[in-house]
Amino acid sequence: MKMAVFGGTFDPVHIGHVHAVVEAKIALGLDRVIFVPARQSPLKTVSPAGDAHRLEMLHRATDVYDFMEIDTFELEQEGVSYTYDTASYLSEKYPEDELYFLMGVDQYLDFDKWHNNDGLLRLMRFAVMARASEEVTVKDPFIWVQQPVVEVSSTIIRERIAEGGIVRHQLNDTVHDYIKEQRLYEA
Ligand code: ATP
Repeated sequence: MKMAVFGGTFDPVHIGHVHAVVEAKIALGLDRVIFVPARQSPLKTVSPAGDAHRLEMLHRATDVYDFMEIDTFELEQEGVSYTYDTASYLSEKYPEDELYFLMGVDQYLDFDKWHNNDGLLRLMRFAVMARASEEVTVKDPFIWVQQPVVEVSSTIIRERIAEGGIVRHQLNDTVHDYIKEQRLYEA
């Protein structure tokens, strides 16, 4: 099987994530995509919504798609999670499968700073998804996934909620309901 791993803080998961993953599934012919929520990103500050909230929102956004799954490996680790460790774990868990790692352009541009990135490139194939309208020329061995870009980010959503703005169109409805119910990201 062709499987892809999609890591992120998903704070919250938004339509940009889901849209890009569906497009990548089509472009790369993927059978499954495994979302791996990070406990704490080494390159980002501490998450404003707790792990349980992020996981619940991820379920609400992905459970309706048969080919999407969630792996909580990183949430169960102590402290900072490195993609290299997650990729090693998943390569051992799925030895027979062809593994890809999906990332948006912003992560690709940061890739040089990632822990043991040479080792990482030996474990999986890497596919980079457009996130803004400008084209990026990715270097070998990265695969470029051109897709109709949805320019949404979790940061913009958190900021808008704090300002009392509209975010319903940027989120799956059930995720939006959950954020309202739990009063997440409010000022
Ligand atoms: P933040 O604004 O908090 O940095 P984010 O919106 O970038 O969050 P992450 O959870 O950090 O979301 O992203 C997880 C992965 O999804 C990353 O590889 C990121 O590049 C990618 N991604 C996020 N938003 C989009 C989008 N709109 N289109 C394509 N890829 C995206």
